Amino acid sequence: MLDVAEFGARPAALETLAGRGNDLWRYAEALPLPARPAVSLGEGLTPLIPAPGLEHGWLKLDFVSPTLSFKDRGAVMLAALARSLGVRRAIADSSGNAGTALAGYLARAGVACEVFVPADTSEGKLAQMRAHGATVRLVEHTRADAARSAMHAAGEDGTFYASHVFHPYFLHGTKTYGYEVWEQLGGRAPAALVLPAGNGTLVLGCALAFSELQAAGAIARRPAIIGVQARACAPLVEAFTRGDAVPAPVVPGPTVAEGIAIADPPRGAQILAAVRATGGVMVSVEEPDVLQARDELARAGLFVEPTAAVCWAALRDPQVADLTEATGAQSSDSGDIVVPLCGAGLKVPAAH
Ligand SMILES: *Cc1c(COP(=O)(O)O)cnc(C)c1O
Repeated sequence: MLDVAEFGARPAALETLAGRGNDLWRYAEALPLPARPAVSLGEGLTPLIPAPGLEHGWLKLDFVSPTLSFKDRGAVMLAALARSLGVRRAIADSSGNAGTALAGYLARAGVACEVFVPADTSEGKLAQMRAHGATVRLVEHTRADAARSAMHAAGEDGTFYASHVFHPYFLHGTKTYGYEVWEQLGGRAPAALVLPAGNGTLVLGCALAFSELQAAGAIARRPAIIGVQARACAPLVEAFTRGDAVPAPVVPGPTVAEGIAIADPPRGAQILAAVRATGGVMVSVEEPDVLQARDELARAGLFVEPTAAVCWAALRDPQVADLTEATGAQSSDSGDIVVPLCGAGLKVPAAH
């Protein structure tokens, strides 16, 4: 798997961040692109608010991003790079929000965008991709078939493979989620980060962020990462429970959590290693609990898509409660637990 390291990422000290722009480019010293590119839509620095009814709990509202999901953090990196390389067109594959984010940012970059999606992708997400001017290619069968078609198309000359899964710049975008949590908690690491895990771009981004912050001496201890999957498609949870280093592909059942239904995640081994290195766990949630969590959040004023409710649902898992209590008690930084709300509700039919 390709990654970028050693480009000289050095997190700026907390005191120097005050007064900088209200977007993720305030962490420019830690990013592989030197400064805010022309294609920026003001992504990042999403609100961190107290979680309703959860002591030391925080919700990070990434669904208020420009294209309405956290994928904007990585999409801006790929679109800026594609534009600077002068390519004619870019190819992406997605079960939804990565496609909408790339469609939006590539439109801004003036690069033609084609997105390969599984045929059952939510209408709202398809409509958004088309509105941004992307060519949408519906692929029958599975998410993995969409990925294979995209990879094939990306082999053509003059074409940029804007893969949120494979492109290493994407993770340097998603890592800004971690930098923001650190800054918004006043320069501290939380005890635990609850994160959705499909292809693991937010998990791996956060692992990167807190490793960099620790290496820079900005935090003493990294947060435990709790990765969450839907029970119907949980290759990482199964491998974690078995103690395996590499996940085995699963045959997915139907799930309302379409954004994390990845049967054979290419970065699976990396995700498992990252979670284990922080002393975290992988847990799965049942369908009715996801929908109940979605409804509960909506009643608290926060309308997110079902996929974005899995982390809230996971807080009921006794393993999560035990772990957050244990890490909170021994943490030198804080006992906080941070839960993201990754995608907006209006893209997915409410009947879901
Ligand atoms: C993409 C996405 C996820 C999962 O992210 P991965 O990188 O696949 O782990 C979770 N929730 C929402 C709303 C998403 O768009």
